[in-house]
Amino acid sequence: MRPGAERKAVDDTKRRIEITVERQRIVLIKRRTPSTPVWCETCAERPLMLTPDEAARLLDMTERDIYRRVEARQVHFTETAGGRLYVCGSSLQD
Ligand SMILES: [Zn+2]
Repeated sequence: MRPGAERKAVDDTKRRIEITVERQRIVLIKRRTPSTPVWCETCAERPLMLTPDEAARLLDMTERDIYRRVEARQVHFTETAGGRLYVCGSSLQD
């Protein structure tokens, strides 16, 4: 086994995780409404519910892309009584 090669593989994995964590932090810091929903009625779990804006930033997409996926029922979503749209974080991972 070549120790150098193994170390490189580990470093790559670590870097990917750090990028993911940092993206989530950016989204969470900018969240204006701390008390967001709720349950995802579709998966009956309590995943991270995201606004379209947050989901778009997390996935490097535009908000329009998110709305398109909502309209195509490709993601779970829910609307609050106040008319705010939230998408299910679990269903975004594909
Ligand atoms: Zn869901």
